[in-house]
Amino acid sequence: MSTSLSGILLSKVLFKERDILATLLLKNGQKIKVVFYGGAGGGSKKKGSTLELGYSLKVELVARPPKEGLFTAKEWSVHWAHKFIRSDHQAFYLLCLFLEIIDHTSELQVEIFDEFEERLYLVLSNALFYLDQAAGEKIISKSNQFISFAGKLMQVLGFAPDLSSCITCGVNLQGVDSFERRLSFENGGFNCILCDQEGGDLNLYQKLLSIKTEKYSALDLKEVFPPHLAQKVFSYLCYQIQMEPKKIKSYSMLF
Ligand SMILES: [Zn+2]
Repeated sequence: MSTSLSGILLSKVLFKERDILATLLLKNGQKIKVVFYGGAGGGSKKKGSTLELGYSLKVELVARPPKEGLFTAKEWSVHWAHKFIRSDHQAFYLLCLFLEIIDHTSELQVEIFDEFEERLYLVLSNALFYLDQAAGEKIISKSNQFISFAGKLMQVLGFAPDLSSCITCGVNLQGVDSFERRLSFENGGFNCILCDQEGGDLNLYQKLLSIKTEKYSALDLKEVFPPHLAQKVFSYLCYQIQMEPKKIKSYSMLF
């Protein structure tokens, strides 16, 4: 087992006054639970300030199998820290939302593998990096930030909406932006305007298409999207992973 790892802090709870029980998303995409003794600060180590949600940490684990699924950190340091997210409440709730969703969509592992779903870490680290940048520029388009993150995540998890053709009649949708279309949660794709006359989701379709084809760095995160489109993507995500929307608490802080 490799004991030198890096990972993003997804959640943390204080226990026994000075210790922290944390969930980390490792670079290889695995989620593990780690105890940081003295991680809450105080004492001789005074490392409490380094354990913030969303930070990327370098961690040296104690080299023994985890006890009841719990790994133990021997040493740790901050590899990447957000600078502006804490000073913008919308950015901070977005951070909490991203972490909460990743926490819900990945299973806890009790053994560390060499290979796993690496792209999961990339989605989260990119989302946090560009969110911090936007917070620094004081331009937070919350619906856009959320849709971009969720769109990339759904690509990795394999249930992004089908963008190629109408899910009911099969008419080609790609490259045809002249007609409206509508997202259907249950069927995993879009209906054309003839099959669902409500339409109204052309902008969302175009956004999801750019999320599918562009790197995170190339996405336009400044364009303002109406909150009801974020709501659609959230409902779609919850439906696909069979999660009760109310369980994602940060969502209601934003939308
Ligand atoms: Zn159709």
